[in-house]
Amino acid sequence: MKNRLFKIIEANNSKNKVIYFMSKSFRINNNYSLYFSYNYARDNNLKLFIYLVEPYEINQRNLDYFYDLTDDLSNRLEDFSEDVKLITRDMELQSILTDVNKVFIDKAYLKFDFEFLLKIKKLAYQYDFSLTEVESNVFVPVRVASDKEEYSARTIRKKITSRLNDYKAEVLNDYKKTKAEKATFERLKDFKNNKLKYYDLHNDPSNNYTSQISPFLKFGFISPVTIYNYLSDVFGDNFDDFIEELVVRRELAYNYVYYNQNYDKFFYMTEDWAYKTMEIHANDKRDYLYTKDDFINFKTHDKYFNAAMKEMVFLGRMHSYMRMYWCKKIIEWTSSYEEAFNLAKTLNNYYFYDGLTPNGYTGIAWCFGKHDRAWFERKIFGKLRYMNSNGLERKFNIDNYVKKMDALN
Ligand SMILES: Cc1cc2nc3c(=O)[nH]c(=O)nc-3n(C[C@H](O)[C@H](O)[C@H](O)COP(=O)(O)OP(=O)(O)OC[C@H]3O[C@@H](n4cnc5c(N)ncnc54)[C@H](O)[C@@H]3O)c2cc1C
Repeated sequence: MKNRLFKIIEANNSKNKVIYFMSKSFRINNNYSLYFSYNYARDNNLKLFIYLVEPYEINQRNLDYFYDLTDDLSNRLEDFSEDVKLITRDMELQSILTDVNKVFIDKAYLKFDFEFLLKIKKLAYQYDFSLTEVESNVFVPVRVASDKEEYSARTIRKKITSRLNDYKAEVLNDYKKTKAEKATFERLKDFKNNKLKYYDLHNDPSNNYTSQISPFLKFGFISPVTIYNYLSDVFGDNFDDFIEELVVRRELAYNYVYYNQNYDKFFYMTEDWAYKTMEIHANDKRDYLYTKDDFINFKTHDKYFNAAMKEMVFLGRMHSYMRMYWCKKIIEWTSSYEEAFNLAKTLNNYYFYDGLTPNGYTGIAWCFGKHDRAWFERKIFGKLRYMNSNGLERKFNIDNYVKKMDALN
């Protein structure tokens, strides 16, 4: 469990303040960062201050969603500290970082979290305090799983699954759940009782057999370890398939953004073979060209794509399978790959409650060949995997999905 700690700066001072910046794990149960910071303060007779760091968002709807679910969190954290405050990321930190012995913070993987960390790091050198990151939101700490950017799920799978037993231990359990933790557990319970047995059908957008836990994972209302342990009395292929998504695919995404900090730049986010094939097909004629306005106003010729956009715009989510179809169509109907990438990234991070996550950046990069393989050559896509509406019609009762989304209007 100690490997969840990543010491950035070690100082030796006799100051009396310990700070925990809760920036990614907005929970009490199984919050390793809270556990380590609280124990450190208690064992050394120091005073713990907890600062809740407002999530980085570009859409007020997502922030409202977060605040609605966390309105009891500050009060509930008073069990651990008399000083709990909410701060924004642009706040000047000097005034709170004086007289500090040690700072704990949830681990950064994305750029906006590294920027916040850097502000603290600079002050740690200036004021001579220790700084430690804690990995609370992945099963296996990202540097333990692998010391390099992995090529695909195949290359990382064993590195993660062989270590699950070492990281199963939970901390601070059996605390009364916060509002967000309760909401998360209700959803998880529903998934366990009513959906997991059908998870082999989860790819079908007309069904509702996925967990819809992703926004809760994003804000750290629950840890993947807790989910794993809660479901572990269910055996069989469905459990294994779900863990493949929750742990292997999700942590491959963390591996990707952590080791490639250019994950959000078109020219650095995918593989050489993918850039080569896109270069060859850059001037292929596009049969349809749409703008962002066309997309968000559901004005394409494709009823399946429009339905997916409705799910995104009205509900702040999209079925997993439709996310792949959606991004592939943006590639097909935009005049350049770079424009398609930037547009998909913008829409993803603006509309999805689970946007601005390693999964989001990785999902989009996957549509451009990352973690995938080369397929048969075809127009516009070259060797990138292609998806079409015939596939949706052949495999699923896709008109049911369209009907459900049309009812949202
Ligand atoms: C173009 C595109 C964009 C995406 N954007 C996002 C995004 O912004 N945020 C996001 O969390 N996920 C994103 N995904 C990944 C995936 O589609 C979602 O995690 C999933 O749909 C969330 O629904 P769920 O919680 O019901 O999934 P479940 O099927 O119940 O899976 C459980 C958990 O496993 C993880 N997971 C599932 N599928 C994947 C995957 N392919 N890659 C990595 N982790 C996965 C998620 O954390 C998910 O909550 C994207 C995928 C694509 C192809």
